Amino acid sequence: MCASSPLPTPAASEDDLAALIRAALADPAHAGNPLRELLAQLLEQSDGQRQRLERLVRISDGYHLLSRSSNETLVQQYDRQLRRIEKLVRISDRYQQSLRELSETLREVSLRDPLTSLGNRRFLMERLAEESERSSRNGTGYSLGIADIDFFKSVNDRFGHDVGDRALSEVAFTIRDALREYDVCGRWGGEEFLFILPETPIELACQIAERVRTCVERIRFDFTESITISIGLARYQCGESYSHTLNRADKALRQAKTLGRNRVEVF
Ligand code: GH3
Ligand code: MG
Ligand code: MG
Repeated sequence: MCASSPLPTPAASEDDLAALIRAALADPAHAGNPLRELLAQLLEQSDGQRQRLERLVRISDGYHLLSRSSNETLVQQYDRQLRRIEKLVRISDRYQQSLRELSETLREVSLRDPLTSLGNRRFLMERLAEESERSSRNGTGYSLGIADIDFFKSVNDRFGHDVGDRALSEVAFTIRDALREYDVCGRWGGEEFLFILPETPIELACQIAERVRTCVERIRFDFTESITISIGLARYQCGESYSHTLNRADKALRQAKTLGRNRVEVF
């Protein structure tokens, strides 16, 4: 059996081990031990390596922190841009919506007669084109009426233009009211009104026009006994241009005027 110094208890950690070695090196009992010098060098090397390792860990932690914070910044920037784009999209949507509403309002205004609130000549021409196309396609046809206020110039001359305007509005309202819901009516110009009676044979159109004429005749004005209208009627012939129908209705109107006014005539 050989005598030896008792083995130190195993070190729990690197620090403990280093402390034990340092203690052993400092112990005068090991002063002449040839391994002492080598152990001292090993300890020094190990210390150096540990310091380098700690520095590397610190650098790596620093990088990690830096990359995490720069990642967060990128995410925040992305979120901010996203919110900005969303806001722009909302503004653009609202802008487009108001443009659509504005253009719809402009279209309505451009098709309406301001005095009578009925559709104007442009509105009527659009409806005539539509109704002619539909009638030609279905082979149904429609009836067309032109109503003209009798001796309206003398209303203006006797009572003034403002009274004439009010009378014109009243007549317009009465004509619209005497027609059916689905009939189309508008101011053709001056004291003339035009109405389109879809899918209506001329006999029925005559009855409707007669009702319109009677309703106008019955309006009670405070400035004059009554105002009357003359009406010319024509039937749309499938396939023809609506201007031909208009010409025939106008001829019928001239006929009504010639035959004494306040009456309905069919071409
Ligand atoms: P007729 O029975 O032959 O139709 O006689 P008329 O006097 O109605 O016909 P004329 O074409 O000679 O005159 C139409 C009048 O309608 C003249 C014009 O001053 C009037 N008029 C047209 N538009 C308006 C309007 O917007 N307001 C007013 N107050 N008068 C209008
Ligand atoms: Mg006229
Ligand atoms: Mg007239």
